[in-house]
Amino acid sequence: MELILPKLAYAYDALEPYIDAQTMEIHYAKHHQAYINNLVAALEKHPEFQATSVDSMLINLPAVPEDIRIAVRNNAGGHFNHSLFWKIMKKNGGGEPNGLVGAEIKKTFGSFVEFQNIFNAQAKSVFGSGWAWLSVDKSGKFVVSALPNQDSPLSYDATPIMGLDVWEHAYYLKYQNKRPDYITAWWQVIDWDMVEENYRALIE
Ligand code: MN
Repeated sequence: MELILPKLAYAYDALEPYIDAQTMEIHYAKHHQAYINNLVAALEKHPEFQATSVDSMLINLPAVPEDIRIAVRNNAGGHFNHSLFWKIMKKNGGGEPNGLVGAEIKKTFGSFVEFQNIFNAQAKSVFGSGWAWLSVDKSGKFVVSALPNQDSPLSYDATPIMGLDVWEHAYYLKYQNKRPDYITAWWQVIDWDMVEENYRALIE
């Protein structure tokens, strides 16, 4: 993962009406860019650490020099998390997952609806800023979690295959205080093919 904004595969207005164009633009071009800028600035203090990948930094935060550890946690996290987030959304997304992800969700949670309920509850439970995640743990099991700020599941021994940003910057212009409405709408833009790809990349 390079320390530059990954190209968006769709236009800012592609996810309308579920995610509005202005939110997309500010979120991608300003917020995500700021995490990258802050990460680059932090790493300038430790040139010896610049060759380390973003994933590796997050997987092993204790190995990051202490004076930049919080900055790396927040900003490498912000870069990694948003890079995943843009990828798992698309115009005319939604529906239910097929393939290995669909099968694993049914095996783990009983049904897609039950999985959605658990995921939504986690997303709603985040106090302040954070994310809801579907990750694969060390034993290969699917786990749903909520994490604060830009903490990545990578720092908690799990690899995320999908995540929902519930920071207010992700929805406030359109949904204001109504986070549950944003969460409900978001299911209409999820790209299950990409989630499947993320999962296969882990196990194949
Ligand atoms: Mn965000």
